[in-house]
Amino acid sequence: MLADDNNPQPNSNSKPTFLRRVFSVFIKAAVLLMLLFIFDKLLPSISQQTQSFVMAKWQQLSLLQQELPTENSLPSPLPAQHLTDTWGAARSQGRSHEGIDIFAKRGTPIQATTQGIVSKVGENTLGGRVVFIIGPGGAGHYYAHLEDYADISPNDWVNTGDIIGYVGDSGNAKGTPPHVHYGIYINGSAVNPYPLLQKPES
Ligand SMILES: [Zn+2]
Repeated sequence: MLADDNNPQPNSNSKPTFLRRVFSVFIKAAVLLMLLFIFDKLLPSISQQTQSFVMAKWQQLSLLQQELPTENSLPSPLPAQHLTDTWGAARSQGRSHEGIDIFAKRGTPIQATTQGIVSKVGENTLGGRVVFIIGPGGAGHYYAHLEDYADISPNDWVNTGDIIGYVGDSGNAKGTPPHVHYGIYINGSAVNPYPLLQKPES
C-alpha cells in the first residue's frame, strides 16, 4: 500500500532519519559559515558608504518625526542680541518681510536654532551668502546676509547652538548695518519666527 511506503515503520527507519537530520544541520551550518565568510570579506569595502547613507536616512526620518517649533522654544541665532518683530514689514518690489532681522557686530557667530541637516550653503541675489537647514518636523531655517560661512557643507548634521556662519551685510543688505535675516518655512510657507524664538533676559 502507498500509505506504508510513505510512512515506514518507526523502528526500521529511525537511524537513517536521525543521520539525515544531523547531515542537514551540518549542511546548514556550513552554508551559514560560508555566507559569514563572504560577508566578512565584502563588508569592509562597502560598509563605510552604507553606514553613512543609513545614518543620514535615519537622521532625516527622525527629524521629520520630531515636533515643529512651538512658542518660545527656539534659542535665538544671536542669543545676546535684542529681538524686534519685523515680520511682514514692507520691502522693495511689493514684497513683505518674510522673517526677522537681528542686528549684531559684523562677524558675530550665528548659532543654529535647531538641530538639523544643512541643505544649502551658498549665495542668492537677495540673501547674499545664505545657509538653509532642515530642522525638526521638516521646517526650513533660513539664515541670510552672512559675512562668511562656518565650516559646514550640504548634508552635514548640525546641533542646536552650532555656529553656522557670521553676521554680515551680503546680498541686498549691502551697506546696511550688519544683521542676520532669519526665516522659518513650514510646508513651504514662511511663518513669523519672532513668537517661536526665546527672548534674551533683561
Ligand atoms: Zn530681513
